[in-house]
Amino acid sequence: MIPPSTAGARRPPAGSHEPAGGPAERLELRGVTKRFGGLLALDHLDLAVEPGEFLTLLGPSGCGKSTALNCIAGLMSLSDGEIHFGGRRVDRTPPERRGFGMVFQNYALFPHLTARRNVAFGLEVRGVPREEVSRRTREALAVVRLAAHGDKHPAQLSGGQQQRVAIARALVVEPRLLLMDEPLSNLDTKLRGELRTEIKRLHQRLGLTSVYVTHDQSEALSLSDRVVVLRDGRVQQIGAADEVYGMPATAFVADFMGYRNLLDAEVTSLDGRSAVVRSGDLELRGTLMGSLAPGARAIAAIRPHDVLCRRGAAGGLRGRVEVVEYEGKAFAADVVLASGLRLYAESVDPLAPGDEVVIEIDPRRLLVYAGDGAPPS
Ligand code: ATP
Repeated sequence: MIPPSTAGARRPPAGSHEPAGGPAERLELRGVTKRFGGLLALDHLDLAVEPGEFLTLLGPSGCGKSTALNCIAGLMSLSDGEIHFGGRRVDRTPPERRGFGMVFQNYALFPHLTARRNVAFGLEVRGVPREEVSRRTREALAVVRLAAHGDKHPAQLSGGQQQRVAIARALVVEPRLLLMDEPLSNLDTKLRGELRTEIKRLHQRLGLTSVYVTHDQSEALSLSDRVVVLRDGRVQQIGAADEVYGMPATAFVADFMGYRNLLDAEVTSLDGRSAVVRSGDLELRGTLMGSLAPGARAIAAIRPHDVLCRRGAAGGLRGRVEVVEYEGKAFAADVVLASGLRLYAESVDPLAPGDEVVIEIDPRRLLVYAGDGAPPS
């Protein structure tokens, strides 16, 4: 039966099934605070994860992602605040009684046990009958596409396969909530991409409420229903992946979302949400994020992808290419303007260091934030 707190909540995505352990449940963090001595690692974190939702905690190293996940898992006590799951307060419940599954960055498999025994272990210690252990282990290995690898030891498996064993081990106990802490960080780019798809497929199929931790923005965007961007233990933005990508709430989030050009600027005029700013001798038009008055210090943010450059000497904004990086679809160029201002730009045509170029900035993509002159960090 669906607990009262989940009434009216979002349904799991189309094509998903009810989780084996029962209907997906809601997780709520209320003012969760964690101090390590004088350090405030989590500062009154309020967060709700809807039943069946995939939510990612994203942010730079040290922002509190793992601390938040460990508090949810029960591996760390809270300094203040409450955690509720499925309508019950759980922050004083020991981790093994919360019924949550956890997948870590370093797989944490028993090296002396086969993949099958690693997966079966959690059921065996719970005293599940032998035939059931055997059936559920077989099913869990099949779900992560390792049915043919059950007899291998971790050392005989690739990093991606080991991590899939770790996921099967978390799933076999039919967790009420799945917690994942940078599970793809130890894998090479190709495996990371493959396993990312696998995690997405599993989530679509099982519909488990999931909390995922990463510092990789593309991982967060591709996997998540919603993303929470953290900085110094505080929420900077919570939103759907496309919202956080397209409309970062702060210059810090913009920086994290690939707005590599963050220009120190001053607001010269405003018309509703449209702003004109000056940065050195550059005059730029963009969208105002927040409230700013003419004369205010600002940060003008734009992605390299939205700063187009082409070879030539005729046109408004001219510069010289210093560094070129080939990125497959386009060339990334580090361009220095006549005024000395540096812009990261993109070109579909080949460029070479020393080329004279004309720059075009898309005003629909330029975002203007309040600034104190210091770049966000
Ligand atoms: P990373 O991506 O590097 O893992 P993170 O965002 O997960 O970073 P946390 O591990 O949650 O960050 O750490 C948040 C802050 O709390 C950091 O400043 C860290 O040094 C501190 N911290 C974490 N665990 C402890 C601990 N056990 N004792 C003291 N300080 C800690």
